[in-house]
Amino acid sequence: MPEWSRSARNLVIRAASLLIGGVAALLLSRTGPGGTLTGMVRDALGMIPPVPVAVALWSGIGLLLASLLARIGAQVWSRLRTDTGPLPLVRSTDLRVKPGEDIGRLPVFRRILGGIATLQRPDPVKLVNELVSAGFSMNASDIHLNPGNDSVSVTLRVHGMLYDLVELDPVLYPHVVRRIKVLADLSTFRRDIPQDGHLRFEDGNYTGRVSVMPTNHGERLAIRLSACNAAILDLDSIGMPAPMLETHKALLSRNQGMIILTGPTGSGKSTTMFASLLHIQEIRGDSVNIVTMEDPIETDFKGIHQSQIGRSPGMTFASGLRSLLRQDPDIIMLGEIRDDETAQIAMRAAMTGHLLFTTVHAGSTAAVFGRLIQLGIDSSQLATGVHSVISQRLCHSLCPDCRVESPPTEEHGKHLRLIGLEKVPEGPFYTAAGCDRCLGKGFIGRRSLFEMLRVTDRLRDMIAENEPAHRLHRQAREDGMTTLLEHGLELARSGDVPLMEVIRTVSA
Ligand SMILES: [Zn+2]
Repeated sequence: MPEWSRSARNLVIRAASLLIGGVAALLLSRTGPGGTLTGMVRDALGMIPPVPVAVALWSGIGLLLASLLARIGAQVWSRLRTDTGPLPLVRSTDLRVKPGEDIGRLPVFRRILGGIATLQRPDPVKLVNELVSAGFSMNASDIHLNPGNDSVSVTLRVHGMLYDLVELDPVLYPHVVRRIKVLADLSTFRRDIPQDGHLRFEDGNYTGRVSVMPTNHGERLAIRLSACNAAILDLDSIGMPAPMLETHKALLSRNQGMIILTGPTGSGKSTTMFASLLHIQEIRGDSVNIVTMEDPIETDFKGIHQSQIGRSPGMTFASGLRSLLRQDPDIIMLGEIRDDETAQIAMRAAMTGHLLFTTVHAGSTAAVFGRLIQLGIDSSQLATGVHSVISQRLCHSLCPDCRVESPPTEEHGKHLRLIGLEKVPEGPFYTAAGCDRCLGKGFIGRRSLFEMLRVTDRLRDMIAENEPAHRLHRQAREDGMTTLLEHGLELARSGDVPLMEVIRTVSA
């Protein structure tokens, strides 16, 4: 609602309440001991000449009606202004996305958005279309709209790095928020509560999860973007070292058992999981029944049956998994195992003709087994049921245009000793200062670090005997496992990532 109508409404409400209050006070002042209400009213009316009373009453009613009409009018007006079509959605023709572009196109979008934002009467619809186009074009994971003291900054998160996109005028900002809320079917009138929704796109390949949070400067918005883009989810291009990839692909052809991923939030586990599922789909064709249970569903995949956890109290990982098993799945992807019940049903599923992917929160690949035993899984079941545990981390990768060789420093040595490496490994190592191509950041994109613990015969015996994580780790190393740190150092030596970034992500 515009500011003028809000203050006019407040004025009217104040005037009306003053009037009602005055009349009530007058009536009360006339009440004597033993006086009836009728007598009281008659006395009050008798005291004031009838004409002013009638005028006051009618003008009071008039003012109340006028304030009501003003309120309805303002809401209708705001709806008319934001909804430009019969269906509030982002049309495919409005979405100018060239997929696979990197941040090189950021200056172009900065110019376009800056141009719209500084117009005499900026069009919020056009502005929002360009914002999401910019996000999808550059493969951004999120768009942030941060209201501040005297301007609103809009930033994009691309491969984990934040880039400024445009500054908006605080007068324009509420219209932009309203447009996004209309697209996401959220309440435009409530500005004092957190809200969540999904942007509507004509093209079903795009999704945008909107989250609105009230702050002291207005509503802060975050839009999590995802596009159905098979190129990103190609198992061959997720950055797994070749020998590991070969083993992983071989395990994907199994009919039952468990493949577990571990690593902090945002380490690329979902990408690996879905790339694996799509690989199975490609190899086995339409005859394979792939189901998932996610919290929440980030991206829609064709041919994969996805269910969301946590929408209602009855839909938990455990209850969902139990009913899912009655739906005859071949491959199951379970977002996370975090309680006993889910752990046990998952283990049973993995031993009765289903290939199951899941994530378990643990410090390392070897520590996953101990964690599952804590959750009540029998060690002998673990030994036979689990094929492999994959640990994953993401590192910012160096800009190939401005990276330069840089020898390791004493600082590196100190950090490396902390993660158990006595001497600084052979270089060369690299850093980057920033250039036009990387927009001064020194980084473009990200690389994954992988470690895969493949359950060999020797390890199977040790897991069954409930041996501690450090001994499992040592045995896995003897059986040829490459650690996260080793994979990281290899990438650092080839100039893909800086040494400090490897140390930081591996020690986290
Ligand atoms: Zn650069």
